[in-house]
Formats: sequence, C-alpha cells, structure tokens
Amino acid sequence: MTTKLDGKKLSNEIKEELKERVRCLQDKGITPCLAVVLVGDDPASQVYIRNKKRAAQKVGVKTLDNVLPASTSENEIIDLIYSLNNDPQVHGILVQLPLPQGINEDRVIQAILPSKDVDGFHPQNIGKLFMNKGELAPCTPNGIMHLLAKYDIQLDGKRVVIVGRSKIVGMPMIAMMLNANATVTVTHSHTQNLKEITREADVVIVAVGKAEFLTGDYFKPSAVVIDVGMNRNEAGKLVGDVEAASTADKVAFMTPVPGGVGPMTIAMLLKQTIEIAERSI
Ligand code: NDP
Repeated sequence: MTTKLDGKKLSNEIKEELKERVRCLQDKGITPCLAVVLVGDDPASQVYIRNKKRAAQKVGVKTLDNVLPASTSENEIIDLIYSLNNDPQVHGILVQLPLPQGINEDRVIQAILPSKDVDGFHPQNIGKLFMNKGELAPCTPNGIMHLLAKYDIQLDGKRVVIVGRSKIVGMPMIAMMLNANATVTVTHSHTQNLKEITREADVVIVAVGKAEFLTGDYFKPSAVVIDVGMNRNEAGKLVGDVEAASTADKVAFMTPVPGGVGPMTIAMLLKQTIEIAERSI
C-alpha cells in the first residue's frame, strides 16, 4: 500500500498557523505584504499568480500587484524592483518567471534585495543555502522538505536521487538534501541509464517537466517518490512527471498531482513573506 504524501492537507495546516502569526503582526501594526511582479501575458504565469494571490488573501498577507506589458525594458523592471526594495511596507518581492524573451532573468533577480527575496533565488541566498546558513530558500524544495518531515521520512544517510537540476527546483534541492545528511545523486538530460540510478534510491525527487516520464519500474518498492512535475497530457489532464497508474501502488510513499508539491510551494511563499515581516520588527 502506498501512502499518499498529502501536500494539500499539510499546506492547509500551515496556512492556519500562518493566520495566527499574521494576527500577531497586525496587533503590532504590521501587515505582511508581498509585491508581485508579472511581466507579459503568459497564461500559465497568470494562473500561478492568481493562485498565489488567492492563498495570500486567505491568510491575511497583502499583495501588491505590478503587472507590466511584455514590451517593458529590463531597466524599467529593475527600476521597479529598486523602488520595491526601498518601500518599507513591502516585505517580500516575487518576480514571476519566466520573463519575456530578451530580458536577462539573472540581472533582474540580482536586483532584488536579498532580505526581500521571498523566492530564495538571489545568488546570495542560494550561496547561504549551500553553506547551511540560509534564511530564505526556494519555495518548492523547501515545501518538499516540510512534507517529508511531516511524514517522518528520515533522510540522514539515505540515498536521494534528484532528477532535474533546474535553478528553481533540482539545484537548491541538492543543498537541502546535503544539509539533511542524505547521500545525493543529481541526474539530468545527459545522464545515462537513469533507471539504474533511480532504482537504487530511497527517495526520488522528479522535476523534469515531461508528462508521465518515469514509470513504476524506475523505483524500488520501498521508495519515496516526490513528483514535482505539472504538465498537461495529450487529453489536457494535469499530470506529473511520474506515471501515477504504474507507480501509485508500487512504492512506499508518493505525492499526488495535483495536491502534492504544488500547494506546499505556495504555503512556503506565504510563510517566508511572514517571516520577513516578523524579522522587520
Ligand atoms: P526545467 O525545464 O527548468 O528543468 C528540467 C530539468 O530536467 C533539467 O535539469 C533537465 O536537464 C532535466 N531533464 C530533461 N530531460 C531529462 C532526462 N531525459 N533525464 C533526466 N533529466 C532530464 O524544469 P523545472 O525544474 O522548472 O520544472 C520541472 C517540472 O516541475 C515542470 O513540470 C514544472 O511545471 C514543475 N514545477 C512545479 C512546481 C510546483 O510548485 N509544483 C514548481 C516548479 C516547477 P538539463 O539541465 O541537462 O537540461
């Protein structure tokens, strides 16, 4: 029997705790505020932002919309970020990625004040994370660590395989797993014999972005499978990077898609916004 790692349930529990922390801040005259920067009209980004704003409202985090046309120049985006950096009412700054073609994402992310970098993508925050001294961490891997802890899944000495090495998921996941004393293997598009590697893993974290790419035979029966992927299959259904039908009853633990990693990502975004506000006192 596979245990479902229920990210939706845990994220709701976290959001209830966050509501209380927002109340405490409000008693001190502080409303946590998340500034959202959305450039262009990418439909997926609009959906992500809408979900994040809706969740923020529910816990009492104020959002400040900065919606810019796709024609906005890199310098104009950076000027906006500088003004948000200097605004004492703004605690967290989120720049929704991807930015339109031609905009240097690294330059934009580096313009964010590291102490307001709620997504944890600034090189200073990534560097601190690798030194195990991080305060603001990328939300998706952070959410995965919370989910594993909730279900008492031990990582110390365990073999963890990360499939995908993106800046927002796979790469920061390496640091968090090393900090948890796991033995970490990272795989990517150049990796050969992927199945042989994942089959040895106690925990497999999959962030590839290819619908149902890994099937049940990629995992050993005692494996914990974390599926980060959010893809539409040919029928238009939301599916993960792992084929649920061939995996779900075969492994020990697994995240569902939807309802696994996605809600945890949003909960971590709100948690970090509130923590920045708490540090501002
Ligand atoms: P990216 O496209 O940035 O990275 C994909 C990674 O997969 C790359 O490192 C790539 O390797 C690797 N890869 C590609 N093909 C293979 C292969 N055949 N074998 C092994 N590795 C391979 O994706 P993201 O990390 O941004 O996103 C991954 C998925 O997670 C997407 O479906 C996305 O929608 C989802 N996602 C979900 C979130 C959530 O909150 N639930 C948050 C963020 C993402 P290489 O580096 O060599 O190119």
